[in-house]
Amino acid sequence: MPIRLLSPQTINRIAAGEVIERPAAAVKELVENALDAGATRIEIILAGGGIAGIEVIDDGCGIAQAELALAIERHATSKLGDETLVRIATLGFRGEALPSIGAAARLTLISRPLGQDSAYKITVAGGVIFPVAPAASPAGTRAIVEDLFYATPARRKFLRTPHAEADAAERAVWRLALSAPNVAFRLVSDERVMFDVARQTETARVAALFGRETAAALLPLNAEREGVILTGLAGPASLSRATTGLQSFVVNGRPVADPLLRMALRLAYRDVIPAGRHPIAALRLDIPPESLDVNVHPAKTELRFADANGIRSLVIGAISRLLERPISLAGAPPARPNAPRLALQPVPSQAAHGFAEAELQLLTAPAARSFIPEASGHPLGAPVAQILDTYILAVAADGALVIIDQHAAHERLTEERLRAEFLAGQVVSQPLLLPVVVDLPQSDASRLLAQAQTLHRLGLEIEAFGPGALLVRAVPAALKNPDVAELLRDLADEFAEAGTSVALEARLDSALARLACHRSIRAGRRLNPEEMSALMRDMEATPRAATCSHGRPTFLKLTRAELETMFGRRGL
Ligand code: ADP
Ligand code: MG
Repeated sequence: MPIRLLSPQTINRIAAGEVIERPAAAVKELVENALDAGATRIEIILAGGGIAGIEVIDDGCGIAQAELALAIERHATSKLGDETLVRIATLGFRGEALPSIGAAARLTLISRPLGQDSAYKITVAGGVIFPVAPAASPAGTRAIVEDLFYATPARRKFLRTPHAEADAAERAVWRLALSAPNVAFRLVSDERVMFDVARQTETARVAALFGRETAAALLPLNAEREGVILTGLAGPASLSRATTGLQSFVVNGRPVADPLLRMALRLAYRDVIPAGRHPIAALRLDIPPESLDVNVHPAKTELRFADANGIRSLVIGAISRLLERPISLAGAPPARPNAPRLALQPVPSQAAHGFAEAELQLLTAPAARSFIPEASGHPLGAPVAQILDTYILAVAADGALVIIDQHAAHERLTEERLRAEFLAGQVVSQPLLLPVVVDLPQSDASRLLAQAQTLHRLGLEIEAFGPGALLVRAVPAALKNPDVAELLRDLADEFAEAGTSVALEARLDSALARLACHRSIRAGRRLNPEEMSALMRDMEATPRAATCSHGRPTFLKLTRAELETMFGRRGL
């Protein structure tokens, strides 16, 4: 084939593949345009996860009749003079979004500039442009996208379920709403209001989108280094989540998913929150524009910092200082109110022998011996002591020493019981004497409500209770007395995370694990010998009991041979 220039239509379709790779990207571009237009109120309406339809309505400056046709031209932008690429102050600047959307879908812009009394519209469908025509509309712009990717079927194949696409689009709006608290946002997805927030302060916006209770526990952050300013809110060490869903980064007003910032946040919390949990933070960086390149990727969510190390130390340093402050002790577990007691017989001289009483609950020699016969034939043996109110020390009939993590073990038992009940279709639900009202971010509440049927089958009964609140009527009986609010928050996180990719089956699995974790005997609870034995006998009878639902071991076993080798009584 001879070399030839590509047609504008083909060029736009290629660009569409880069800029608009899924509905969330189209939503992001349209909302960015609304923000750049100075809107004070933006409404986003999604149908079928944005695949069927996206509508973004703003009250911004509007587009003049004469410029409508230009707006959908490639590389046409009102935001960038030829000399300003080093100091970008708007969210858009590449002039690619509208032509890309118009190439992949059917796009209609209806706009009425401020101070004009009539509106005009233009439509571009699969790259074919229709003439500008009069329309009726209030001041501002309405962008309507229908049938995304109908003109680029290859891209269409890579879409996930409408549900997953809706989650991703919602996440994009969530981030933009956090970046611009002075703009009112309303997001409606398949007729469900995901959130509806007025113009407000940054702190109020974080509270609305992170959940009021969570936000109340966050600590304000304020630091500066060589002209770079870091502000925002970050969680104390005691507050962590199952996912990174409650982390937001805004750089020079632009919401970003920058790997460097995410890593810095992780490092700042590395030593204070458990592995597998994630900190909560809403961070905002203001960097002199010449020290920042936002033009790394067409989607503009990644950045290049002139001084990456400086930015990293600023974030890690500021958060580390925050976590060192005495206030972070507020989240630490309270000192145990009761003086430690020995379960059977006190052994007063213990402390003198180097054991703090709180650390060791000895079931005293006679008690231990009396349990040993009972242990014969049981692989995990009989309990002889509890250490740190967390580990059970046991001796098996063959002399092996067994150490059990009571929380991990119990978690697995609960999960397996729930799973068995669930598979048999007979989860036992325990109605709450007083239904509990739980406040959540509106999007979390909607997400949980969308799964209400499934949760019902798991024994959890929830219903809507005004925007952003749920009424919990019943919990799975196996959970005894769970912290209902915490349970719902963790479940919402789990659904938000799993939602993008995982089938219902896997969701149920993670929901079960999450439920189990809530019911389980806490580490730090004193058990009596009967409780310890019962737990161990249960473990022996339960499949997969050797690890907890997070994959950690539930017990360690040192055989007699291993002990002898360790003490040099036996050759290697
Ligand atoms: P960019 O945002 O990079 O300039 P776009 O393709 O997204 O490119 O938009 C092209 C132009 O159309 C913008 O520069 C702006 O002038 C105009 N425009 C798009 N959306 C809006 C809107 N909601 N309100 C006012 N003007 C808009
Ligand atoms: Mg744009």
